[in-house]
Amino acid sequence: MKRVRFAPSPTGYLHLGNARTALFNYLFAKHERAILILRIEDTDLERSKKEYEDMLIEDLKWLGISWEEGPDVSGNFGPYRQSERVDIYKKYVQKLIEEGHAYYCYCSEEELELEREKAISEGRAYRYSGKCRNLTPEDRKVYEEKRIKPTVRFKVPDKIVVFEDIIRGVVEIDTKEFGDFVIVRKDGIPVYNFVVVIDDALMNISHVIRGEDHLSNTPKQIVIYEALGFDIPKFAHLPIILGEDRTKLSKRHGAVSVRALKDEGYLPEAVFNALSLLGWHPKEEKEILSKEEIFNQFRLEDVNSSPAIFDRTKLRWMNGVYIREIISLDDLTKRATEFFEGFGYIANFEYYRKVMEAIRDSIETLLDIKERGRVFFVDETIFSEEVIKEVRLEENFYRVVQTFYEKVKDRETLSKEEFKSITKEIQKELNIKGKALFHPLRIALTGESSGVGLDLLVDVIGAERTKLRLRRFLEYFG
Ligand code: GLU
Repeated sequence: MKRVRFAPSPTGYLHLGNARTALFNYLFAKHERAILILRIEDTDLERSKKEYEDMLIEDLKWLGISWEEGPDVSGNFGPYRQSERVDIYKKYVQKLIEEGHAYYCYCSEEELELEREKAISEGRAYRYSGKCRNLTPEDRKVYEEKRIKPTVRFKVPDKIVVFEDIIRGVVEIDTKEFGDFVIVRKDGIPVYNFVVVIDDALMNISHVIRGEDHLSNTPKQIVIYEALGFDIPKFAHLPIILGEDRTKLSKRHGAVSVRALKDEGYLPEAVFNALSLLGWHPKEEKEILSKEEIFNQFRLEDVNSSPAIFDRTKLRWMNGVYIREIISLDDLTKRATEFFEGFGYIANFEYYRKVMEAIRDSIETLLDIKERGRVFFVDETIFSEEVIKEVRLEENFYRVVQTFYEKVKDRETLSKEEFKSITKEIQKELNIKGKALFHPLRIALTGESSGVGLDLLVDVIGAERTKLRLRRFLEYFG
């Protein structure tokens, strides 16, 4: 059985890089009918927070990712939070020490700093000297009596570690590049490179799919697998994500967390679609893909090793396609409700639905509702200096609005069709058309010089509010 895992550290919001890692694990699991595990890597007690774990889970679910095993669903390989696995790690540290694969190191920070400075001044890459590698029990006793707390270091064998990465091909690293590294800190906390091996091995992970930033950790992990006699999983390191300016994706590039995209009115389906294309591409030239299509086609072997560019303009465009063409009007309205309310546009579902129908073709995110939706909710129009001047100078301006008002003032309904036939009548009577006719009406009804079709607008706001707005205009300029 193939088993994969997504292993976030709960130290902040789910950012796009991690979301893409989670997604690719999920896509692999869907394509391969593998088990996906969520494992919370919270050994960094100072930075890890349960609130962040809850938010990560919420954001993953929002995005449409689900897992078979994890802290919230349980499973046979738990616990799924590293903070609850401490005893397991202790056992393996002990085993490594007993079998001569790890040792206590009493070197002080100052000593290590000196070693580091020396290496730099000699132009060498730093690695630990191995001073404590062969301490005798007597040597250790001296340190222990001085109550010096040791770290535990892994005794790295001299060798070239070779592994085949599914995305990057053969990777070779000489262990001389890193030397004996710490696996348990002075305070007794085991470090990532060690616990990740224990967890991946005990959880029977067959494929480790993670970001390229972990590539340099992999050889350190492989030597631990070997020392403990564990099977080594397959590795796939996903390409880094860059912004459009080809620098590492960061806050400077705008929203970079899943939560921020949600707040900016992106739909999870569009984000899912866009993230799936960060490093992967289907065979055909197609960008809007259903989940089924992605599940069917996704193969790790087809993931690109060169950096993926996160193109925000494209995400916006894609989101617009989902709003216009893919999500049903009812569903869209449901999701838009909290945005309407957030902007203070208060109405019932039926009304929101009508507004959505009128504006869905002209928005790309739900945040765009703020601008596009205003005319459906706000009856008090504020006329700008420019508009005031224009109305006073254009001789037909006021007359058009007045004529229109005369024709609707006794009506109780005003549908799209009725609006069209009334404006046709005015066109004939006043012998004006196009902008000369519609611009004054638009200004009178909305105060703006462009926007949604007026027929749609009056159809939604109805006869009473149309008349109210017209009366206000006429009073103001009369
Ligand atoms: N907790 C690590 C991270 O968030 C996981 C790395 C891994 O997948 O091995 O980067």
